[in-house]
Amino acid sequence: MRMRLYDTRARAVRDFLAGHTVRLYVCGITPYDSTHLGHAFTYVSFDALTRVLTHVGHRVLSVRNVTDVDDDILRRARELGVDYLELGRREVQRFDADIDRLGVRPADAVPLATETVPAIVQAVRGLVAGGHAYATPDGRIYFDTAASGRFAELSGLDRPGMLAQFAEKGGDPQAAGKRDPLDFLLWQPSAPDEPSWDSDWGPGRPGWHIECSVMVAEELGAVVDIHGGGRDLIFPHHSAEILQSESLTGQGPFARVWMHVGMVALDGVKMSKSLGNLVFVRDLLERYEAGAVRRYLLEHHYRADWSYDDTELADAACGFKRWQKAAGTEGERDDLAAAFDRAIRDDLDTPEAIRILDEAAEVGAGTTLRRLAPVLGFALPVSFSSADV
Ligand SMILES: [Zn+2]
Repeated sequence: MRMRLYDTRARAVRDFLAGHTVRLYVCGITPYDSTHLGHAFTYVSFDALTRVLTHVGHRVLSVRNVTDVDDDILRRARELGVDYLELGRREVQRFDADIDRLGVRPADAVPLATETVPAIVQAVRGLVAGGHAYATPDGRIYFDTAASGRFAELSGLDRPGMLAQFAEKGGDPQAAGKRDPLDFLLWQPSAPDEPSWDSDWGPGRPGWHIECSVMVAEELGAVVDIHGGGRDLIFPHHSAEILQSESLTGQGPFARVWMHVGMVALDGVKMSKSLGNLVFVRDLLERYEAGAVRRYLLEHHYRADWSYDDTELADAACGFKRWQKAAGTEGERDDLAAAFDRAIRDDLDTPEAIRILDEAAEVGAGTTLRRLAPVLGFALPVSFSSADV
């Protein structure tokens, strides 16, 4: 059975047709605040995907960017009275430590926006020269979305829906001099207290979306096998990346699979910094071992939207303890191994795969359990004694 994955662009589950090496680009963080459960769900899901792809015989080349200069991080640095680069470095370290504890393996490359600016300037120059972007009188450069006519098709949203999300996610629909309110920023002059880089359009700094197109081109080439992130990135961020990249390279589709992870809520409301309803990974790791938290995350299918629940996390921790205990048994169950293999290949069905591991634990098939659990990133048996649980 081939691996099958849901492609947001096709809006269907399809056979995953990649060569031996899978080029994976996952949009990373803006490092200005602590890792919350929504981040953890995204990066643990892509880590599980990477491990499963490796298990079925691929080599995965993964890239995850760090947006270490943008409006959010500059504002936060101003509030804290610290240098934005220092803030970024500190938060990246904390983020890396958090997801490392959850068993997320490092990406092969982690490019920083601040180190990509010369290549970004070159890309913006290319977009302007190709007629895909234009300058406003105040020195901003915008991507011309009307020229492409594909923003709605990519996002699956109607125009009012696009306008609402664009504004909500930091876009500037009302800015002066734009041809279309949905045209998105590629380059802007820096404010006096902001960092700036030389460009054809005077000293300034990049918009957000362009960095990912440039990093993909630099690290992986004109197209990728999988382009992923949280579902809230579909519009405008990922749609913008597709328009930029396909306009720059003349090649497409930009991604073989466009892959998005669901949103995590608290009491039914999506977790977000602006609402302050965040559950932090560090707090959970003070109460539970990392394997339990990882299991809790992967009990949800990567495309599902779900709500954090204390009781469910406690149940997941008990389930993880049962695995640890059962890992000492010596039974084998080939039928369960086959069912596990079907589940992970079927659009990364981790909830079903975990149910199968539970069954293996229940019937004392410890040999099978020890062999399968690492495919999802669970090391069994663990280094401490399971006799005391
Ligand atoms: Zn991105």
